Amino acid sequence: MPSPPRKPAGTGVRADARRPRDAAADHPFRRAHFVLSAPEPRHLPADEGAEVAFAGRSNAGKSSALNVLCDQTGLARTSKTPGRTQALVVFEIDPGRRLVDLPGYGYAEVPEAVKAQWGRAIDRYLHERQSLRGVVLIMDSRHPLKEFDRLMLDYCRDVGLRCHVLLTKADKLARSEAAQTLAAVRRELAALGGEASAQLFSALKKSGLDEARGVIAGWLDAGE
Ligand code: GDP
Repeated sequence: MPSPPRKPAGTGVRADARRPRDAAADHPFRRAHFVLSAPEPRHLPADEGAEVAFAGRSNAGKSSALNVLCDQTGLARTSKTPGRTQALVVFEIDPGRRLVDLPGYGYAEVPEAVKAQWGRAIDRYLHERQSLRGVVLIMDSRHPLKEFDRLMLDYCRDVGLRCHVLLTKADKLARSEAAQTLAAVRRELAALGGEASAQLFSALKKSGLDEARGVIAGWLDAGE
């Protein structure tokens, strides 16, 4: 993995001295800002540079994960309305480095027609988006690998896309239970084939942040 870009020598010393001595305080995700909401993949920004998509069933904790990863409270809107967001929401870190919040579903009452429409849009996006470097798949650690998750993992495997699973809300599990869940999910990912990894995460406790940021930044900074 290439090392992160460094500041030119001799700059920023004074500014840094006023900041907390915390390496994470300087991570690039802090610069993420909303760009647009694309009802269809064809409305997305030019397919240049690199982007990482975030997917997850409704209520899995995707918005919360995006917000803590970017150290911002209101970047991704947490929503309780099933099926409300059917758009792909684009955040830019720097010109040419983006995070894309994919619409999710998961509520039983989402009609099949909506699921089919969702499937077509996501299918097109994952297959055609040249700048897409990988997918971060958010799962509630208490209910991992539901139908939606398996579908996303199948898409990623079939397209040859990397996938990193965040088993979030890990704070709701006992330590041993969390470790068992992680091991079980990793076994299943290996059995499914494809390039998928997994980690524990908690937006509430802000745990797993460095690991997740490292994976995402590595994808964004890697060449094709
Ligand atoms: P989304 O629909 O996937 O975007 O999910 P949200 O981010 O809106 O989260 C759904 C619910 O789970 C909200 O009530 C959050 O406060 C809660 N939640 C999200 N992440 C965590 C976490 O890490 N720990 C706990 N305990 N709750 C969480």
